[in-house]
Amino acid sequence: MAAPPRLIALDGPSAAGKGTLARRLAAHYGLAHLDTGALYRAVGRRVLREGRDPADAAYAAQVASDLQPVDLEDPELRSEATSQAASMVAAIPAVRANLLAWQRRFAAQPPGGKPGAVLDGRDIGTVICPDAEVKLFVTASLQARAERRFRELQAAGADPIRRAVLDEMAARDRRDSERAAAPLVPAPGAFVLDTSELDADAVFDRVVAYINSRISPRRA
Ligand code: C5P
Repeated sequence: MAAPPRLIALDGPSAAGKGTLARRLAAHYGLAHLDTGALYRAVGRRVLREGRDPADAAYAAQVASDLQPVDLEDPELRSEATSQAASMVAAIPAVRANLLAWQRRFAAQPPGGKPGAVLDGRDIGTVICPDAEVKLFVTASLQARAERRFRELQAAGADPIRRAVLDEMAARDRRDSERAAAPLVPAPGAFVLDTSELDADAVFDRVVAYINSRISPRRA
């Protein structure tokens, strides 16, 4: 196999299949993986846990500058309340600025001696790693993504309301796409893949074929 890509920037809205794809790409190419959404979730969760308002820019920025590894292990990290708080703190420029260096360091010096990294999020190809060798943007219709989230919640033993899941996802989409600071948009030159009609295996196969077509000729 040709040498693995040094850096894969993977962006897209929630429940488009980024997390699964990022983990599989990291395993396939032997790269480190960073779920950058977890950083914003950890900030949002700690702000809520400390009884503060996620719209309080100064407070959220301070939490972001003082994020601890234990914050990433909070059991409530993936709850709906945390998701909404994460997208609120993520709209605050000082929060983004305080998380930037850490993400770039991970990309430049991947842990565990790995030869490269996969970072997934909303602004990896546009802001964090604009020089990434491979830029991907995976998306899907709001309906398809809401249905996936609905089934995930059911599988986890919850009793979700379909309409509420869709409304909450639409609210988060709006916040992520309309914010002034690093809005969710495909990076120039990104490979855009709509996963509405694809399962995880099909997404993985298409993306690997794309990546290999980019790295093979140059390094063969
Ligand atoms: O990807 P995930 O759903 O875990 O991200 C939670 C929230 O964090 C997103 O809705 C978005 O507002 C924010 N985020 C971001 N930039 C990233 C990753 C996540 O703004 N690179």
